[in-house]
Amino acid sequence: MTQVSERLQSVFTTQSAHKWVNKASTAEERIAKLLKLKAVIQAREDDVVKALHADLRKDDEGGRGEAAPIYGEVDQVVAELANWMAPVEADPTPFVESRAKITSESRGIVLLFSPWNYPFALLFQPLVSIIAAGNCAMVKPNELAPHVSKLAAEIINEVFEEKDVAVFEGGVDLANEMLELPIDHIFFTGSPAVGKIVMAAAAKHLASVTLELGGKNPVIVDRTADLQTSAATIAAFRNVNNGQVCLCPENIWVPEEMVDEFMAVVQGTFQAMFYKDGKLNPEANGKIIDERNYQRVKGYIDDAREKGATIVCGGAGDPELRSIHPTIMTNVPADARIMGEETFGPILNVFTYKEVDEAIAHIQQQPKPLALYLFTNDDEFSEMVLSKTSSGGVTVNNCLMHVAVPGMPFGGVNSSGIGAYHGVFGFNELSHQRSVLFM
Ligand code: NAD
Repeated sequence: MTQVSERLQSVFTTQSAHKWVNKASTAEERIAKLLKLKAVIQAREDDVVKALHADLRKDDEGGRGEAAPIYGEVDQVVAELANWMAPVEADPTPFVESRAKITSESRGIVLLFSPWNYPFALLFQPLVSIIAAGNCAMVKPNELAPHVSKLAAEIINEVFEEKDVAVFEGGVDLANEMLELPIDHIFFTGSPAVGKIVMAAAAKHLASVTLELGGKNPVIVDRTADLQTSAATIAAFRNVNNGQVCLCPENIWVPEEMVDEFMAVVQGTFQAMFYKDGKLNPEANGKIIDERNYQRVKGYIDDAREKGATIVCGGAGDPELRSIHPTIMTNVPADARIMGEETFGPILNVFTYKEVDEAIAHIQQQPKPLALYLFTNDDEFSEMVLSKTSSGGVTVNNCLMHVAVPGMPFGGVNSSGIGAYHGVFGFNELSHQRSVLFM
């Protein structure tokens, strides 16, 4: 058992009293806090870009792309919060003389842990939902993105009083200290392995959890798909942020007679997007977050190669730049390490099928992924695959896009996550639905 530091304990005590004030706060009061947050992030957007370049070599667009969804979340809260907070009349039957309502009330103190791959967006987007629902928060930015962690702490300290939102910078030891507190709810984005640790810690206090985890996202290319577009899209999204995206396409299933053309288009797209004069372009590729993860991803390729996999392209890495070349592997044996672990690096595993049931059977045997992607021009094909598989979300004829629709919940299922957020779904996730009967 770890020791909880004095500052953690003191903030927890303060927030334990203040959470009742926040619970009773109005939509206007919550919105005022969020508008201040938005204004400070807007004022410091150039610093966001710089910090993300320093930690992950994200370009200007990638940096600003982490701020934009936070603004979108705030704007939606400003427009909708009064409606979301309004009690809902309920049918009191069998007590027909009575009155019944369902109210959304805050959960209390929320512990928030963020991942390092989108370290800014995935800290502040959940925080918007947490505040909108009237909670206090104790926040730990991710230690592997230290420039973003420092900036996020500065922003939080400028915008919020500690009794509302308190930030703590640190690594695993700090995370474990925070998990000792009898918190009301934990919002965790990270790996399934640590997700289990978080859930076990939550069980000690019966805290509720939102777990936004990862997995190996499968893609099925159907015979009716536009091969050129499908292959180019998959290639582009596999190497976003050098493959360090929880929603990246990873295991690609292609009809066997289409696979050569598919791989040729993928390789052409890799060259066009991620190479300059035949050399890996570090600015376009981004950076693997640290040496340990660089060795982990490179290790998947070396291990699969030793066990008989074919490296169709890429396969090498540049340790100085901490980039891995966009890689296609085929014939990967079942005992290769990459088959059982989320890659979180720019490796496409390409499998072929005669009958699509082979791909579906494989997907059914794997832990449920965060996303499934289908490329097809046949609606019956889509519905058939949807009926036989499960995943957090799905995009048909593109990758990742469902995450950008604020009107849909974003989250995983079982090993890829528990709970969902964005917009009203975030508000509901961070609220308790309380049934009230007046007799
Ligand atoms: P991680 O699980 O290693 O770390 C996340 C947080 O947990 C950090 O704050 C870290 O300090 C803490 N932590 C790490 N080890 C711990 C331990 N042993 N005990 C207690 N706390 C610990 O995740 P990561 O490497 O930062 O992020 C990558 C993972 O996040 C991938 O699996 C990816 O798929 C997932 N992810 C999911 C989403 C989503 O929205 N579902 C988004 C981005 C990333």
